[in-house]
Amino acid sequence: MTQYAAHGLLRAADRGRREEEGRCVLHLDMDAYFASVEQRDVPLYRDRPLVVCHTSSDFCSHGVVATASYEARRWGIKAGMSVWEARSRCPHACFVHADIPKYLDNARRLRHLCERHSHRVEVFSIDELFVDLTPLLRRYPPGGRRWEEALRVGGDLKEDIRRELGLTASVGIGANKLVAKMASEFHKPDGLTLVLPEQLPDILAPLPVDRLVGVGARMRRHLRAMGIETIGDLARAPREALQWKFGVVGSLLWEAAHGRDAGAVARSGEVEGMKSFGHSLSLRGGTRDLEYLENTLLGLCDAVTRRMRRDGYLGRTVSLRLRVGYALGYARARTLPEHTDLPSPVYAAARDLLRREASSGLWTEPVTTVGVSVSQLRRREEGKQVTIWDIMDPREERLAAALDAIRDRYGEKAVTRASLLGDFALSGMNLAR
Ligand SMILES: [Mg+2]
Repeated sequence: MTQYAAHGLLRAADRGRREEEGRCVLHLDMDAYFASVEQRDVPLYRDRPLVVCHTSSDFCSHGVVATASYEARRWGIKAGMSVWEARSRCPHACFVHADIPKYLDNARRLRHLCERHSHRVEVFSIDELFVDLTPLLRRYPPGGRRWEEALRVGGDLKEDIRRELGLTASVGIGANKLVAKMASEFHKPDGLTLVLPEQLPDILAPLPVDRLVGVGARMRRHLRAMGIETIGDLARAPREALQWKFGVVGSLLWEAAHGRDAGAVARSGEVEGMKSFGHSLSLRGGTRDLEYLENTLLGLCDAVTRRMRRDGYLGRTVSLRLRVGYALGYARARTLPEHTDLPSPVYAAARDLLRREASSGLWTEPVTTVGVSVSQLRRREEGKQVTIWDIMDPREERLAAALDAIRDRYGEKAVTRASLLGDFALSGMNLAR
């Protein structure tokens, strides 16, 4: 390598590091989101213990708590608790059904508000967003002035949310996503917290280790068995030992314990215009032959995933579209555990949905159209760096339970409702907030 090239490389590496250092990320977390939306819309619920439930029962007699208002939290009611337990803790609370389409609509407006300040906005869950302020603040020198400006933007954003949505949010600001997210948790509700890089070690050290992104109940048990209780303990543990025991996860956690996180704010909706890939086929005269339908479906899944691979997309939600007789078509959807562009997982999901429909006894006439589509797309990123965000505890189970509850309650239409979720990254989506 010539000296010149080596020099160029070094300078590039230096620039990369400098950019990393000057980063400024804002995390926004709506306060008691579902409950606050209901309290805003229904005066009767204001200043009262309100429990928003995921339940299929008309009278909210079972199911799980999606969100408890701050008034209800005083009675020890929290998200994920059974409605039965919540009722026994606070019998006079108001119990209402979660209205997911309404919360999604609000979330969309929230995202647009954030996009006024930065084009780099990542929808992290139904009530959490990351906003990369780095481009906006580039004209200020890294350091004090830049942080001051970041705080001003955070305050403006909170004010916009209050004025235009009638809701409050807690905002955290830091040098990366990890720090910003932790910062927003320090002051709730209605907080605005900046954590400066130099404050990090002191702030992180005493916190229990499960406050870190990526440390779920299981990991906490493993770490506890190693004598690691706090983030400080984790930071002091030898990196090699963690790496040896947990592989790449171990070294990511060690980095996280030092407040380091290379995760970029992934612009949501970066999938330009592309919402889904699909193919369908009309079957002349219709058929009731399940095997024939399954084979047709296989061919369709193959064609769809081939196009996805060609265009460089991965998808996660598989929808089966059917038309029975001359009635209007309808769809059933299922979300896969991870994104894919391969035919077999897509086909397995579509076939399952088909079999379930076939056995439902609702096909009074032959099936005249069958189609499959894959949505919730993501660009395939070759050689993408693995970050702490990739190892987070998946929260799909809660989501699936919530959607099943909606489906039980609203029946077929629920699938259309669920498709509203399209814009949101389900992997990080946490409906129990
Ligand atoms: Mg929240």
